[in-house]
Amino acid sequence: MAAPATATPAPPVSDEARAAGFVDVRSVVPDAVIDLRYATADNFVGVPLYPAGARCLVHESLADGLATAADLLRRGGERLVFWDCYRPHAVQVAMFEAVPDPAWVARPGPYARSHVAGRSVDVSLADAGGLVDMGTGFDDFSARSLAYATEGVTAAAQANRARLRDAMTAGGFSVYPGEWWHFDGPGAAVERPILDVPLD
Ligand SMILES: [Zn+2]
Repeated sequence: MAAPATATPAPPVSDEARAAGFVDVRSVVPDAVIDLRYATADNFVGVPLYPAGARCLVHESLADGLATAADLLRRGGERLVFWDCYRPHAVQVAMFEAVPDPAWVARPGPYARSHVAGRSVDVSLADAGGLVDMGTGFDDFSARSLAYATEGVTAAAQANRARLRDAMTAGGFSVYPGEWWHFDGPGAAVERPILDVPLD
């Protein structure tokens, strides 16, 4: 488990982040568990790709929906865990070089979409006991990661995935069928100019 929710408000975002319309998720979902795996070596590349203490930044168009999802989950004693948020283009390039398979890692293009545009998030659930069982961990490149997988995924884990999906859907997100943890916000598929927003 990552750091507990902090009562300290998120410090203001950088000028670059503000200019891009980005907000720090902690200012939208104060009890979010921020566990950005790419800021640690605990990711599929095996080395940190983000600076230590990297923020979870998203485009402001996702803010209300994340608050809605978090409110719904909070009623059941659960919190959103954020594994990835805005992802700089240079990091996407490094990831694709490590796993050059577009089924698992989006091929970097001349435009920003999805995480690279701050319009998608990778999320899970935590309750008082820690991470909720979702059947696989993050970036588990197996068929069990498919959002609607049944084989090798317990009924309880399937139900937990469905509860996460329902809350995120209520917030206007749609799950990527290939990964139960990946959710696209409004306009995530739109190609936009590549950004260069720092993560701190
Ligand atoms: Zn993702």
